[in-house]
Amino acid sequence: MKNVQINVPLLVRIKHGALQRLGLYVARSGLAPVALFHSEGLLQSILDVARQSLQDHGIAAALLHEVKEASVEEAMHSLSAVPSSCRVLIGVGGGKALDVAKYAASLAGLPCFAVPTSLSNDGFCSPQASLTLEGKRRSMLTGLPEAVVVDLAVCQRAPRTLWHSGIGDLCSKFTAVSDWKLAFHRQGVPVNDLAALMSDASVFQFMANPVLDEQGIRLLATALMLNGVAMEIAGSSRPASGSEHLISHALDISGARPRLHGLQTGTAAYLVSSLQGGSHHQRIGELFARTGFWESVRKEPFSKAEWRIAVERAPSVKQGFYTILSDKDVWPEFASMMAHDPALVGCFE
Ligand SMILES: [Zn+2]
Repeated sequence: MKNVQINVPLLVRIKHGALQRLGLYVARSGLAPVALFHSEGLLQSILDVARQSLQDHGIAAALLHEVKEASVEEAMHSLSAVPSSCRVLIGVGGGKALDVAKYAASLAGLPCFAVPTSLSNDGFCSPQASLTLEGKRRSMLTGLPEAVVVDLAVCQRAPRTLWHSGIGDLCSKFTAVSDWKLAFHRQGVPVNDLAALMSDASVFQFMANPVLDEQGIRLLATALMLNGVAMEIAGSSRPASGSEHLISHALDISGARPRLHGLQTGTAAYLVSSLQGGSHHQRIGELFARTGFWESVRKEPFSKAEWRIAVERAPSVKQGFYTILSDKDVWPEFASMMAHDPALVGCFE
């Protein structure tokens, strides 16, 4: 056993109107001037609120940069444009801007403010950035952001499918922790009990009010954020990522057109949890039914053929990462569920 020091976000604001106070939060931190990274396609009105808030508090934006793709190459390019006077990088938007800002900040040794405008996955407060490198998706270590600012009203207005994606990514914590415990029993992989507990508890917290209102958004944001902190505590992605993420990564690699991360991991978590036993499968099923998760999947059904390939490839996606997929071919059971489970009707074609 060893104690190590970890860095967690020092400023966390999850509230209505938080975006309008961004400049105040930066001013209080004393970190100016700033470089503001925003995702391509971000609503101009959201960007305007962020810029106006910085301006109102006398914060100079030395760089305003539109992030077009979540890649290491883009992060390096962006970083080269950041003036040396900048003392913080701020990422505003969906995954792209946050991942690139987080990674660029870690390379530059600067703090990062994460300002998600939707909650489609746990990336806004995880110690990794999901970026492509020469076209291949990688998880790059970054450390956690210095600050997390979630405007409930902004996230509530984001498309419902992104909310479903966040719920799917959150539910995969159940299966990830089960895989982690299995890896301990089979291969002695150490489990950090506190991180595992935080991960599990974060899902239960959200389940108390899984609706698309401000209180529900607050619970989802908090749960996803604590999950990122659990990863930092554990020093690994185990609290948030198990066999369901391996399947999703394999789909990203081999699928014709990957879908939202949380729709993939959530659906995989539903399937995997049926093999893991216990009550998680039922819990995930009830939550998905209540929130309408499957509606987002049915809008653009998954390809059964692509899933078959992904499930077969999944165990080899991450070398030495033991999960329930490691020892047996689970496809026959998945195929049976896809054919007979009423919840999955219309989700695969
Ligand atoms: Zn995830």
